[in-house]
Amino acid sequence: MRLLFEPMACIACGLCEVACSLHRDGVLTPMSSSIILHQEDKANYFGLVLKSASEGLVLARPEGVTHGAQSSDSGGPGAKPILLREPCDLCDGAPRCVTMCPTGCISKEG
Ligand code: SF4
Ligand code: SF4
Repeated sequence: MRLLFEPMACIACGLCEVACSLHRDGVLTPMSSSIILHQEDKANYFGLVLKSASEGLVLARPEGVTHGAQSSDSGGPGAKPILLREPCDLCDGAPRCVTMCPTGCISKEG
């Protein structure tokens, strides 16, 4: 199984980050989640960064989805850089981020 993204469906609500943190740490904070909402100063520009075990970093941006790219994203002050975080374990087969995403931006394949 792997996660698939429809970047243009993302509304930057951040629910996937907190769903992941609840799975990982049992708390509602995106400090160490395997998925990060990436936002830039540019108006209405945002995307997602997933640390995947099988595909490396997955960048889901308005331009499209790429794999294996480098990123230093941390998800905010005090948060761990994505490269130091645990990779996505697909929530042991029931991805919480997929369940929580209100727009269907994230789905599972396989
Ligand atoms: S599937 Fe689970 S571990 Fe992977 S990013 Fe989503 S919530 Fe996090
Ligand atoms: S939960 Fe869905 S819509 Fe919200 S930030 Fe994550 S991917 Fe985007």
